[in-house]
Amino acid sequence: MIIGLTGGIGSGKSTVSKLFEILGYAVFYSDDVAKEVYFDQVVKRQVVELLGPESYVSDLLLNKSFISSRIFSDTILLHRLNAIIHPAVKERMMQFVADNKHKHVVKESALLFEARLDKEVDKIVVVAAEEEIVIERVMKRDGANREDVIKRIKSQMPPEEKIRRADFVIYNNEQQLLITQVLEVHRRLFL
Ligand code: ATP
Repeated sequence: MIIGLTGGIGSGKSTVSKLFEILGYAVFYSDDVAKEVYFDQVVKRQVVELLGPESYVSDLLLNKSFISSRIFSDTILLHRLNAIIHPAVKERMMQFVADNKHKHVVKESALLFEARLDKEVDKIVVVAAEEEIVIERVMKRDGANREDVIKRIKSQMPPEEKIRRADFVIYNNEQQLLITQVLEVHRRLFL
């Protein structure tokens, strides 16, 4: 069984994923892997061909601001970049599932719906938190200002829409314990 885990920025996906790991699930962190695959030799060559050598500051560092500026207002370039990165992530995901064939896998992705990965999982868990709580958390975590955090929130699919598409919702508003909710999802999935 593959469980997709998603939610908005700062909702608590990584925190909830750690709890699934404690329960013995194997968690595939898609967003981290997406960053790693840029340094795969084949991917790197394709990215340089598409966007230029300025895409990399060094062998270990991506020029994120350059890449963002190239794809920001050019949806064709964005789609072409996605067509390089997404299959590479998918390949690693398949390897991860094969390497963990005796475990249940959680696939954590901020863009599960946006990248249409929801079709590739068996159940979907959405982590949701109130906007004001999210703003405070992300400002604190990233040292970002309020306006930037709000801009990032608004660029994503609205949480109500994610909740509508979910099989399970975990509310991370610091009122209900997260571990209790994760255990409840586990119980409903397997017990
Ligand atoms: P992103 O998509 O931006 O990477 P995320 O959904 O993975 O975010 P986390 O990184 O898990 O979210 O959480 C965002 C921040 O809020 C982190 O600094 C985390 O420690 C904190 N946080 C998450 N849940 C709670 C909670 N229940 N109580 C207190 N702090 C929390």
